[in-house]
Amino acid sequence: MLGAPGAGKGTQAKMLAVKYSIPHISTGDIFRANIKNGTELGKKAKAFMDQGLLVPDELTCDLVVDRIAQEDCKNGYILDGFPRTIPQAEALDAALKIMGTAIDYAINVDVPDENIVNRMGGRRACVGCGATYHIVYNTPKTADICDACGEKLILRDDDQPETVQKRLTVYHDQTQPLIDYYEKAGVLRTVDGTVDMEDVFAAIVKILGE
Ligand code: AMP
Repeated sequence: MLGAPGAGKGTQAKMLAVKYSIPHISTGDIFRANIKNGTELGKKAKAFMDQGLLVPDELTCDLVVDRIAQEDCKNGYILDGFPRTIPQAEALDAALKIMGTAIDYAINVDVPDENIVNRMGGRRACVGCGATYHIVYNTPKTADICDACGEKLILRDDDQPETVQKRLTVYHDQTQPLIDYYEKAGVLRTVDGTVDMEDVFAAIVKILGE
């Protein structure tokens, strides 16, 4: 899944994982779990994430390659938030080649910058399980409480307005070139991410098949 931060790719990735019964692999979630558990990786990643910067490729690529080599990924998986740089995409392609597979689709969830800033200020994340909601577009059943686990919902540090601006700049500089990269590889498909999340989901399922 490709797209700017806050384009809704995480929400879509989770829904797709349920529909196709394949794992949802989010590098952001993996880093956040490491931060919560106080691991070395978590400490290193947090310093970058809190500033809206990308975690360096050398801390990111191996962890994804190890994850997709696991048994539960043999029928497929959804990558959410990875790759985010050309070197990450190249590392992924090289690893997949060795495994004898390749990426089927790169789904670009397209949302203009002006919508992003507005969306991210309204995003709320669960301190317990990391599920995300939106105060207007995707509200929890009870305000500020996670539907899934009952824990509190907060505005993540990296969703604070100054950090969002920084993340958007980082996205344009480092991640957007992947759109060309996957277009050239013939696997890019773009969906309009500004419509209702059910309609975005339907558009993606139309591409991937029932
Ligand atoms: P996300 O939850 O995907 O928006 O990711 C939150 C933050 O985690 C990003 O702003 C980055 O700091 C970091 N991150 C997640 N995935 C990657 C990646 N593939 N490469 C580098 N940093 C990442």
